[in-house]
Amino acid sequence: MKIACRVQSLTSSPTLAITSKAKQLKKSGVDVVSFGAGEPDFDTPVHIKKSAIKAINEGFTKYTPSAGMPQLKQAIVEKLKRDNNLQYDPSQIVVSNGAKHSLYSILQTICDKGDEVIIPVPYWVSYPEMVKVAQGKAVFILGEEKNKFKITAKQFEKAIKKKTRALIINSPANPTGCVYTKEELKQIADIAANYGICVISDEIYEKLVYDKAEHVSIASLNEKMLSLTFTVNGLSKAYSMTGWRIGYLAGPKDAVLKISNLQDHSTSCPNSIAQAAAVTALTSSDECIDKMKKEFVKRRNYIVDRINAIKGLSVIKPEGAFYVFCNISKTGLNSLEFAQRLLDEAQVAVIPGIGFGDDHYIRLSFATSTEQIEKGLDRISKWVKLI
Ligand code: PMP
Ligand code: GLU
Repeated sequence: MKIACRVQSLTSSPTLAITSKAKQLKKSGVDVVSFGAGEPDFDTPVHIKKSAIKAINEGFTKYTPSAGMPQLKQAIVEKLKRDNNLQYDPSQIVVSNGAKHSLYSILQTICDKGDEVIIPVPYWVSYPEMVKVAQGKAVFILGEEKNKFKITAKQFEKAIKKKTRALIINSPANPTGCVYTKEELKQIADIAANYGICVISDEIYEKLVYDKAEHVSIASLNEKMLSLTFTVNGLSKAYSMTGWRIGYLAGPKDAVLKISNLQDHSTSCPNSIAQAAAVTALTSSDECIDKMKKEFVKRRNYIVDRINAIKGLSVIKPEGAFYVFCNISKTGLNSLEFAQRLLDEAQVAVIPGIGFGDDHYIRLSFATSTEQIEKGLDRISKWVKLI
């Protein structure tokens, strides 16, 4: 079959692939420890599940408006005001099938063929592929480990060309857990505003920030940034609702209208029952999130100490999300060899850094139980001595 050029070089998601391979191996009886998961291991909180059951029983099972039901859009407007100091009108919100879908629709809407989108490396695996499908060109800038994997405003300015359309900022970040400070974002915002570059701010890990780190929405810095930014968020990570598929975006009215039209002709509305549950999640207290967060902090501290005690491996302590990006360059293996051999020889699944744009690293998720983390690290430390 003739395949359209647009998708010919599209790759599958390495995060999803390895996670499902590990699950399959487990099912077939292999005792695999998986650090692959890009989703919290906790169950969705009971009060959210109950509201979905109620929605079913009450017959809330039909199409809603494509861009989301009015009550949910209102709850999102209030959330963005309360948590992020962002003032949006419901007409500036689109509810999508996960934040991934929001990001995809934004890129489809703002990119013309050859438009450049700046992506800091390490990046979340789907950004470059989404840019590709939108026929844009991904331009990479390296966030160095010595700067906690963050890019600087200077690097950003240097990468701007005539065709630059947007910058993707992901804070807290997947896979590094880095969190941009308000000052760092201000400097980046000044450059974006100066050159009129759109910012796509992926804030899906917003609620998972640790120690003294604080989450700041770049659109909240000034009016100009508000008019240039798409703020993207979702329920997957904060409420442990990855399978429910609810994400959302907020942005400039004219672009949001087009995104809503795109959704009209592609997916229609997100699942009505999940939308009802999302209203409950966003309008109730953050107590359930705080419980998960406490557990994540414990696991993070443990995993960081254990890895740094292994000769040849090192990590910096992430300030957000639930991943560590582990430097393997001293082992002499590239990330694919490392991950493949670790899985075959020690039955531990990790994600090779190459999928995130850096072959000297592997990603480990600590969204798995402490016992599994202990067991996995015992295996890794034994295995690393043998290679
Ligand atoms: N952005 C980042 C950085 C992510 O890690 C994820 C996780 N899949 C997403 C967006 C998408 O999340 P979802 O589609 O489940 O809302
Ligand atoms: N965001 C998660 C991860 O990075 C889920 C997988 C995916 O959507 O690609 O593992």
